[in-house]
Amino acid sequence: MPRIVSAAQLKLGFQNLFGPLGRPSIVTGHYTAGPVDSSDDHAIKLCRSYHAAHKAKGWGGEGYHYCITRRGTILCLRPIALKGAHTGKHNTSNVGVMMHGTTGDKPSQAQRESYWWLLHNAHTPKLPPAHRSPTSLANCARKGHNSWPGHESNGCPGAFKPMYLQGGIQSKSSGLQHLTRSEREHVLALRRLRAKKDPTAGQEEERKTHWHWLDKQRGRIFHAASEKPGGWDDQDRRARYRTLRSLTGRGAKI
Ligand SMILES: [Zn+2]
Repeated sequence: MPRIVSAAQLKLGFQNLFGPLGRPSIVTGHYTAGPVDSSDDHAIKLCRSYHAAHKAKGWGGEGYHYCITRRGTILCLRPIALKGAHTGKHNTSNVGVMMHGTTGDKPSQAQRESYWWLLHNAHTPKLPPAHRSPTSLANCARKGHNSWPGHESNGCPGAFKPMYLQGGIQSKSSGLQHLTRSEREHVLALRRLRAKKDPTAGQEEERKTHWHWLDKQRGRIFHAASEKPGGWDDQDRRARYRTLRSLTGRGAKI
């Protein structure tokens, strides 16, 4: 799970000048057209200066809802209840995410993973209440700033765009915290065996045993959840199932 810093911790205050965001249905990605952050402290400093600049423009503070630093930290900016100021004429129901950088800069691996994490977790208690989305952002449409009509000639979000459209990537370790202790042990054993360059026949067998155990476990969760109505309502069970599926699914590499 990424480090998360709230606007209150950043001491950023916002004015409600544009009314409510509305139910989130789109996530738009941006770059800042400024320097890349060299550390989280640097990223925070930059966010503070943009906060002042956006305030001066009459936007009531930072126009974006979230910033993801190079290290993968999520800086929560404008509270999610408030309409942003990041894509002129298209800010209703539109969540704004930004990363520091400009033309030619690409997202770091940590940024790709934290973006994925945010899309899948922004609606959970892992986010501070002011920044918790009323709905999963993973189900929202994804755009880059210049995907929008009237903004096509804008350079933003440059080489960050493919990642924004793709939705980032799931971290390989992501989801392990949802598993039970024995499930986790099988996953870690499997990883150790997969890392061996010249596995013996015995190790190869052992690897298969772990894989099959995990696959069976995934099947058990699926059946237990599908047997009764509301069986999928349990968030922990869903997360556990998703994790096991991503670990054992077709083409999955652990
Ligand atoms: Zn932009």
